[in-house]
Amino acid sequence: MKQNKIKFGLKIDLRTLAILIGFSAVAVGITYILYTYTQTLLKQRLQERIIAIASTAATQIDFKDVERVRSVDDLASSSLKKLVDQLNAIKAANKNLRYVYIMRRTNDPLVLEFVADAEMLATEEELDTNGNGIVEDEESTPLPGDPFEIADYPVLLNEAFYHPAADRDLEKDQWSVQMSAYAPIHNASGDAVAIIGIDVIVDDFLILTRATLLPFLLFVLFLVFALVLLTLLLVRVWSEKVEAVKELDRQKDELISIVSHQLNTPVTSLKWELEMLTDGDMGKFNDEQIETLKGMQNITANLADLVGMILDVSRIQLGKMKISMQELDLQKFFEEILNVIDPKAQQQSVEFIKNIPHKLPTVFLDKRLTRMTIENLLSNAIKYTKKGGKVVLDVRIDSGKLFCKVKDNGCGIPKKDQSQIFGKLYRASNVRNNVDGNGFGLYIAKGAIESQDGKIWFESEENVGTTFFIELPLRNHPDTDDHDTH
Ligand code: ADP
Repeated sequence: MKQNKIKFGLKIDLRTLAILIGFSAVAVGITYILYTYTQTLLKQRLQERIIAIASTAATQIDFKDVERVRSVDDLASSSLKKLVDQLNAIKAANKNLRYVYIMRRTNDPLVLEFVADAEMLATEEELDTNGNGIVEDEESTPLPGDPFEIADYPVLLNEAFYHPAADRDLEKDQWSVQMSAYAPIHNASGDAVAIIGIDVIVDDFLILTRATLLPFLLFVLFLVFALVLLTLLLVRVWSEKVEAVKELDRQKDELISIVSHQLNTPVTSLKWELEMLTDGDMGKFNDEQIETLKGMQNITANLADLVGMILDVSRIQLGKMKISMQELDLQKFFEEILNVIDPKAQQQSVEFIKNIPHKLPTVFLDKRLTRMTIENLLSNAIKYTKKGGKVVLDVRIDSGKLFCKVKDNGCGIPKKDQSQIFGKLYRASNVRNNVDGNGFGLYIAKGAIESQDGKIWFESEENVGTTFFIELPLRNHPDTDDHDTH
């Protein structure tokens, strides 16, 4: 894996980097959610507070005064004066109240009509909040009957005329951040004749939310830092463990390779010596002695096969499967195989059908590996088929490839075992306890065929039968003679 070296000399691979970025993104996401949630909660509390102020204020206003004030002509009326006094009293009683005003509905649902506000009767000096001697537009107060567009205030469209309500969002101007709340003013029969609105300065709310954000940010920083450290630590421990396991595995493969190599020589000599004895090269033996010697010969042959298999397995494991391409007369090659397999089929009372072309070419293949594979497939087909069953071998040469098909109507391979059947030492659950075997054969067969650039696969159904397929590219010259697979 590609390694990036970061400044302080720590090695970090791309996967670790991705994990760290993922962690950080999650941490930032959690903070954002917590922050927004806290902000929403605080905003709700604020809304409740200012809604309560607006509701109380609405109960203090006499609706008759509101109804009497209609236009600029009512500026000098006693009702307006009373309303303005009441609005100023409300303002004085509540800290941070910036504006208090009354508005009523008009025939146009998007336009309200101004009735009064606390500053309505203020002198010019009182209105000049900037203190620059001029009452600017934003400092001046509207007059009774002035229209007020409500398109930007959804709460005013209807809601505020039914029950006290507050704006969803804060509003910011050059002086402060505010939130507005409204409550209906009812007449004697309970109808809303107008609303009272209050704008409350909420700068302290912002200070509070910012203050809550800081601990959150610190928490996230700490979290990310802790996660980074933890991940790096875990990755380090994990890769050390993986390396250690790999090394152990390699040492085990080496050991198996050495042991099987060492065993191979004495077992082969033993085989020859026994053969010499049974052939009578060292004097005559009686029939009983010869029978015993033949038994020993069989055992030694099996032992030699097993050692050979272990050797092949360790070669495949170490990526050192030796391929030795040699000229091969396919006709003779299959005859030799049949000489071994025919007696096995007879012994097991299995019908063995061979569809082999009469003329086969001479090609270059690794004889030992190819023969071992085909013999293994045929032996398995016979071994896993009941007496009276049938095994068919089809051989075909096509487009420079050798195709072999070994089909039986035996016990089949259960679905759940099929994906592992080429694995080392793997035996299917339906034969594990009732048919002899060691699970090396197919593992080696796969290694043997694939190391010659061929393919091996199968189709099987439990209790119906199995078909193994081999496809081997043929060469008519030894171009890849003697090489190791890696
Ligand atoms: P084994 O020595 O067990 O036969 P192999 O590696 O040759 O080892 O085969 C692995 C497993 O594949 C077998 O144990 C068996 O479960 C399954 N198998 C192989 N060939 C056949 C077949 N023709 N019919 C049913 N099962 C088979």
